[in-house]
Amino acid sequence: MSARCIVLLCLWLLCAITPAGANDYYDLVPQRIAPDTYVFLGALEAFDFDNHGAVANSGFIVTEQGVVVIDTGPSRLYGEAMRAAIAHVTDRPVVRVYITHAHADHFLGNNAFADVPIAALPATARTIRSAGEAMARHLYDRVGAAMRGTSAVVPDEIIMPDMEPVVDYGDHRLELIATAGHSPADLMILDRRTGVLFAGDVVFHDRAPATPHGDIAGWQQALAGAARTGFRIVVPGHGPVASDDTPLEQTGAYLRWLVERLQAGAARGDSAAELMFEALPPRWAALAVQPAEYRRSVTYLYPALEKATLE
Ligand SMILES: [Zn+2]
Repeated sequence: MSARCIVLLCLWLLCAITPAGANDYYDLVPQRIAPDTYVFLGALEAFDFDNHGAVANSGFIVTEQGVVVIDTGPSRLYGEAMRAAIAHVTDRPVVRVYITHAHADHFLGNNAFADVPIAALPATARTIRSAGEAMARHLYDRVGAAMRGTSAVVPDEIIMPDMEPVVDYGDHRLELIATAGHSPADLMILDRRTGVLFAGDVVFHDRAPATPHGDIAGWQQALAGAARTGFRIVVPGHGPVASDDTPLEQTGAYLRWLVERLQAGAARGDSAAELMFEALPPRWAALAVQPAEYRRSVTYLYPALEKATLE
């Protein structure tokens, strides 16, 4: 066999053993959670060089009208791996992408969907336009080469759920729910056909909620809104899918505890550093990405609470 044949054979073998939805960095395996409905589960970790930023959940719904994608992950290569994995499930085209909110782990895969309408709430599109490139650079520092070729593609379709709260894709009627609290604009999507609620980062599960852009009172209202949808299955932004209220209650209880602890610290006159290194109760220490996420919350939330207490 000539050297050229051997090279070709090796290339063929490499292609044959590479699973659908995989590239050098991401091996995305869609989990079917309901009829026509799939998720890619992110690692329950902070960004690092091993997970390549794939820490958030994303998903898609296969409808008669085509595929609806919810969130695109942290990088162009992740988005491309998503498209390859979707193509392995269905030959229908992707017809729309929804971005739940403007955080790097949820929208930086938009590069791979530039040929598809990408829809988001007004404030989400604004934030991606003004801060998206900085977020991409920041993530590059955290996860490295998996980010190559990634830029911040701004959603080109602004959704106004007040005016158009439901959109039909074949017999999947999707309810678009505009909330805020985890970030200044959080989109949730309820598929009335299957009862699946894509909750974005309004809901975390077994992973400490990330609060740097949080308005905790608004967030609690968003959680109440999520509970009122009467969903049958909830897809959190981070953590395992559930068929009951557990992740909503866990997120709400953690946020209540967090605010109470910070208020108590402010009333005692604790410094942020003292509060930061205080031990966590076992229930909250057991969540993934602790104590890092708690410490980040102290950094971001404590100054305002301290000021309010002093006044
Ligand atoms: Zn997230």
